Amino acid sequence: MNKRYFEVRRDCPTCKSTDTREIYSCSFLKPPIREFLKSFYLPQGKIEFEYLKEADFVLEECNGCGTIFQKEIPNSSLMNKLYEEWIDPRKVFGLDSRKDNLSKFSYYAQEIMMIIAFFNKMPSQLKLFDFGMGWGKWCYMAKAFGCNSYGAELSKTRVEYAQSQGIRVITWDEIPDYSFDFINTEQVFEHIPEPLETLRYLKKSLKQDGLIKISVPNGEDIKRRLKIGNWMSPKGSKNSLNPVSPLEHINCFKQDSITKMADIAGLELAKMPMTSQLVYAKDWKGMKQVIKSLAKFIYGNIHGNLSQKGTYLLFRQKKNSTLLPI
Ligand SMILES: [Zn+2]
Repeated sequence: MNKRYFEVRRDCPTCKSTDTREIYSCSFLKPPIREFLKSFYLPQGKIEFEYLKEADFVLEECNGCGTIFQKEIPNSSLMNKLYEEWIDPRKVFGLDSRKDNLSKFSYYAQEIMMIIAFFNKMPSQLKLFDFGMGWGKWCYMAKAFGCNSYGAELSKTRVEYAQSQGIRVITWDEIPDYSFDFINTEQVFEHIPEPLETLRYLKKSLKQDGLIKISVPNGEDIKRRLKIGNWMSPKGSKNSLNPVSPLEHINCFKQDSITKMADIAGLELAKMPMTSQLVYAKDWKGMKQVIKSLAKFIYGNIHGNLSQKGTYLLFRQKKNSTLLPI
């Protein structure tokens, strides 16, 4: 039977293997998922359960790459409703603004300084792109450093806000017309229906020596958390199920599964040398510690010592790779 608001995924969205098995299933309308959805969406706006009758919350694990993914996902019409109506942009703008503290902006600043130092060029010679930019605040920081800063975003409300702040917003269709030094994806790939295809598409706009960052929730530990089943465990806590948040975090990656997806897309892991990470520390009192913490965070993840916080990986074009038709 055709569904009006859902699509069913028949293979792994990361590596396309059909060798997958169900590890969790529950109706969206029954506990504990119904209670989770209510507690998650009501503070941000609303939820209309009538749209969720035709599907279940089903988690599949890929035996090929280890990605855990939601089998039944909202189609574009329900996604639009979810991100623009259930999550009320006016309400979340206020909620998001409350998170705009010094540590958030100093993190952005450190990350962007690190990127500029890595490329060892004048900021004005660099093109940075934030894919899924939200309200455009990362773009704004990159712009403040003098970089050419671009963003893309599905949410119309967020696009309009970013444009009002002077951010250059490009559309999905325009992406391959550009050639970027750095593509930022921060908490984006876990939301994407077709992550492999999206990564391949983004790669078309990556310079030969450019970098693409994929930063997503850490899914290494999710099966233990599912066994405990505490859906009300707060985001960031030890037992939090946020990495498989129903309807939204439709892909739950491990470091190896992202690396495999990148490999299929013609990308390989890149490392940020410590010299790029520490280059500004000596000139800026008090910032040394911030840069060290950031380096620890990034290196911790790259070397497999995964923190509770998330998975942060950098990729570059494979050397001597030939472009394969999609
Ligand atoms: Zn897979």
